[in-house]
Amino acid sequence: MTHRTQKAHTMIDSPAVCPACNADQLPGTPWCTHCRPYVARPEIGRLSPPIRRLGAHLLDSILPVGVMILILSGATAFGGGRLSWYVALLMLAAYVFVALLLFVQGTTPGKRLLHMRVIKETGDNATFLTMLGREWIGKWISGALLLLGYLWILFDRENQGLHDKLLRTYVVEHR
Ligand SMILES: [Zn+2]
Repeated sequence: MTHRTQKAHTMIDSPAVCPACNADQLPGTPWCTHCRPYVARPEIGRLSPPIRRLGAHLLDSILPVGVMILILSGATAFGGGRLSWYVALLMLAAYVFVALLLFVQGTTPGKRLLHMRVIKETGDNATFLTMLGREWIGKWISGALLLLGYLWILFDRENQGLHDKLLRTYVVEHR
């Protein structure tokens, strides 16, 4: 392992002009402010806009709750007792298991459905531990601050929420 200076830890140096749209690039950000790809390494993808971030977040919130409600209401309709709770818990465990598997790939069920993933400042996929911290701790903090941590996404030049700032992550989407 080479020694990383603080500068190397922050960002890959980006070209002065976006290769896709020729717009001048702001110093200190690798994202084209016009067409939004990662200009130094376009294969990484585009910075995901807030509306898609919201969509993924809603999917991630609604999917597990929806599955639980469906199972429990279905079980109630068929007069199920304790067994239906076991099935519901089993489904929830399965969902958590799938989510954890996707964390390894730097994504979540909702983001996966919308072709999005989380990357680190280096451009590499977020690691399992980063995802765990981001999704289950960082987002809780963002929400606990009267959702200010989420609203930050709208006003941040690089669309980072508080949970992104804390874990130094960005959300990108595939073309
Ligand atoms: Zn551009």
